[in-house]
Amino acid sequence: MKIQPLNTWITQDNNPLIIAGPCGAESEEQILQTAKQLSEIESIKLFRAGIWKPRTRPNAFEGVGEEGLEWLTQVQKQYNLKTAVEVANAQHTELALKHGVDVLWIGARTTGNPFSVQEIADVVKGTNIPVFIKNPIHADVQLWLGAIERLSNAGITKIAAIHRGFHYAGKTKYRNKPMWELAIELKTILPELPIICDPSHISGNRELIPHVAQKALDLGMNGLMIESHINPSVALSDAQQQLTPSALKELLNALVYRQSVTQNPDCNDKLSQFRKMINEVDDELINVLKKRMNIIEQIGEYKKEHDLTIFQLERWQEILRTRIQWAEKLGIPRAHTEKICQLLHEESIRIQTELMNKK
Ligand code: PEP
Ligand code: MN
Repeated sequence: MKIQPLNTWITQDNNPLIIAGPCGAESEEQILQTAKQLSEIESIKLFRAGIWKPRTRPNAFEGVGEEGLEWLTQVQKQYNLKTAVEVANAQHTELALKHGVDVLWIGARTTGNPFSVQEIADVVKGTNIPVFIKNPIHADVQLWLGAIERLSNAGITKIAAIHRGFHYAGKTKYRNKPMWELAIELKTILPELPIICDPSHISGNRELIPHVAQKALDLGMNGLMIESHINPSVALSDAQQQLTPSALKELLNALVYRQSVTQNPDCNDKLSQFRKMINEVDDELINVLKKRMNIIEQIGEYKKEHDLTIFQLERWQEILRTRIQWAEKLGIPRAHTEKICQLLHEESIRIQTELMNKK
């Protein structure tokens, strides 16, 4: 897949791409005032605003429509900021192109619908306008990847993914559970794809945003998209999660920006030493795992011969309890041991099941 790095067309350096702007465009005044203040923050390179808002129920604020695109033209002219809007169908896309919007993004609800994504891809074909693709609402990396492929197949090369968290039915402090591992999985499949984190829609409230934004930078994400409104308390959508431009400035200043590589030879030496130590420990670990696996195979054969069940509840409970105790004595937290024991046990069951099914 041909993907142009962000620094060839928008950031000019290797700093993360910072995107900010209101959830929705509400009035010309709100847009221009917000853009003015955001344009004074040097690291912000792209101004976002929703013109068509996907809402859970009708009669909520559904965006101002085409009129808002004129305001974004003013933002480009008066404040020299590039602009981005969400498009959900062919008509939105045609209008955004007609009004000279710089970047399009596909929202989480749309990414999950291949018909809509294809409709958008058909309209942008031949333009090479930048398109950012948010993750789908549900935790499905293939669906996310599929949407990216549709844009790429239409000849778009300025592509980035936006990680905005996933719907989660269980208990969580987030509006959308980050499930960082899914963003990492996507990056592993497409290493050249920039991934931008959207801490606003992950958090759902202002308090969590700094923690999520920092975590994204710590993981080496390529940018942040953060909602900012001139007066969040009266925002017509996502009021809880928007920051004033000055609060955003403070947040951006407080974040620790990290490099994925360093030119400092001492630093690189030290890293090599640590990595050598890890390699040695992993070598030991793999030998121990091999020993464990041999025993699992013997137990499996034995259970098979004697018509015993693979899963033995009491033994499993005992393993979990004792390993947690042993590990805690060495200062290893319970959650860590629990996770690893669960993985080991799952694998043990899988290996024994394979054995039993063998003729
Ligand atoms: C938005 O960016 O305002 C938005 C609607 O986001 P999402 O598609 O991630 O829900
Ligand atoms: Mn929003």
